[in-house]
Amino acid sequence: MDYQKLAEMLFPNNKMTVEEIEKKYPKRDLPKGGEVTRFAPSPTGFMHLGGFYQAIIDFNLAKRTGGVFYLRIEDTDKKREVTGASEIVMDVLGRYGMTPDEYQLKGGVTVGDYGPYYQTERAEIYHAYAKKLVAEGKAFPCFCKKTEGLADVQEKREKNFSLGKIEEKDPCRNLTLEQIEENLKAGKKFAIRLKSAGDGTKKIKLNDGAKGVIEIQENAKDAILLKDDLMPTYHFAHAVDDTLMGTTVVVRGEEWLPSYPLHVEIFAALNRPQPKYIHTPLLYKFNENGNKIKLSKRKHPEADMRFFQNEGYPTEALVEYLLNLINSNFETWRKQNPTADLMEFPFNAFKITANTPIFDLMKLNDISKESISHYSAEKCYENLLFWAKENSPENVEYLEKQREFVTKILNIDREKPKPRKDIFKWSMFFDLFDYMFGAPKTFEVEESERKAYENVIRAYKKYLTLSSKEAWFENVKKMAAELGYATDNAEYKKNPQAFLGNTAKVCEYIRVAITGRKNSPDLFEIMTLLGEKEVQRRLSLIA
Ligand code: GLU
Repeated sequence: MDYQKLAEMLFPNNKMTVEEIEKKYPKRDLPKGGEVTRFAPSPTGFMHLGGFYQAIIDFNLAKRTGGVFYLRIEDTDKKREVTGASEIVMDVLGRYGMTPDEYQLKGGVTVGDYGPYYQTERAEIYHAYAKKLVAEGKAFPCFCKKTEGLADVQEKREKNFSLGKIEEKDPCRNLTLEQIEENLKAGKKFAIRLKSAGDGTKKIKLNDGAKGVIEIQENAKDAILLKDDLMPTYHFAHAVDDTLMGTTVVVRGEEWLPSYPLHVEIFAALNRPQPKYIHTPLLYKFNENGNKIKLSKRKHPEADMRFFQNEGYPTEALVEYLLNLINSNFETWRKQNPTADLMEFPFNAFKITANTPIFDLMKLNDISKESISHYSAEKCYENLLFWAKENSPENVEYLEKQREFVTKILNIDREKPKPRKDIFKWSMFFDLFDYMFGAPKTFEVEESERKAYENVIRAYKKYLTLSSKEAWFENVKKMAAELGYATDNAEYKKNPQAFLGNTAKVCEYIRVAITGRKNSPDLFEIMTLLGEKEVQRRLSLIA
């Protein structure tokens, strides 16, 4: 077979050669050890938390080694195409301080010399490489329709795997130049498939960054490189792009692990070195029954990165939580360095926890509470306002007009050795502090205590003072004693029957009257912010 002639017949219009293309993609000038990573999502219209998890690894790996982190949009599957794919991803990455060094915005700016960064704009490049493989006898045209023949052949081949190479039985593999010419003349569409030289009975070894050394069956399939619309498959495009763009480490989901042997063969056919691989585990969560289930966009809102934005989680809390899931030594490091910047953590991309990571919102909430507890009230306010502008426009005017009041609310119990840890997302602010914006509508009082509660509140109207915290508390105690409540706790414990309760009970009743709740931040601070008039009004509403 004259493969050169075959290549010309299949790609008569392809002008650029692989050599010419490769001149445009020179070796990157990087410091020693500098890793080049890429985030390469298919455009789906949203960003999955699992993708973000991978992007964190990519970003950290590149940034900590003086390398490059770039964004490539893998949009060759027309059925899944969504416009503005890179904008969606860039928006998410930007919010988390992980803007890629190289990227392309649809129809607009391109930053970086290794583009285009949209695969659909690289068709000519893939064709040149496919043409080269055909010319070298390593790939062949396949005229089988997707639905007929091909599936059949694949199936047979799989059944005969133990026989090793059975490609001779493939109808397209052995077409003559004349038959191919005839097909082309008849206007038949063709795909380009790899002429596998592999042996399905052999095993190859992969040294995976996350999973260690794995043995997998060698590839023996004549996998499709270009589909019959002449767009590349993931397998081929990834090999071509990661070669040209100089990727040194591929971080991708473990669902790609089974096709790794095929990728070995494609790189070998291209005669180009293969990057290192880190196959990341899928994210799971626990369902109501305590079983592990895959995090899915259809069932779990937190699978979509918009969830965290809408709910108003601080960005560093989510990154921190994911770093926890990525590197198992993160938690110990954080305990030793409670306020250190995340970039100070000795991240190790090759020590990724190989176990199934379980994404637990409660854990994120705890990390987030901790994170926010270190904010100043002003920083809280700015974050709250930013969240409201995007997600709760009806509250923006109020927040802007009441900046001082809102900041003071956010400052209750904050500047203390043990600052409060109640807020974990900005969307909870108005519910958490509903009593700061109007008298409560429900009250946490036991029916059996209602009488006692009302008696205390009625009496308290005469004792209310907010002149100082000391004076306020002295008056509460004075009233407590007069009403028959113990002000000395040791005495109360010795002889509880002698009293109606203790001062703590009296404070609880006052707290409930003002906030509706048995638990709240510092009551005196709350009352001071509300003002004496409003506090009196609320007491009068009760008794
Ligand atoms: N487009 C592929 C995906 O979304 C990328 C896999 C890779 O990073 O190589 O799964």
